[in-house]
Amino acid sequence: MKQEYRACKKCKILTTEKTCPVHANEKTTTEWYGFIIIIDPARSEIAKRANIVEPGAYAIRVRQ
Ligand SMILES: [Zn+2]
Repeated sequence: MKQEYRACKKCKILTTEKTCPVHANEKTTTEWYGFIIIIDPARSEIAKRANIVEPGAYAIRVRQ
């Protein structure tokens, strides 16, 4: 997974694109570590703490 996926530097969402699907101008990076999958952000404590509103896979750490 790590080689193909990239993480947005702003929201940490994982994508295969070079720019974030949420933040159109935000570049993504392959320098990320670990990931969590958020299915229902409204009911997830982790999502609330990380300010995640869109369901998806998110990196835990992204190198800035
Ligand atoms: Zn983003």
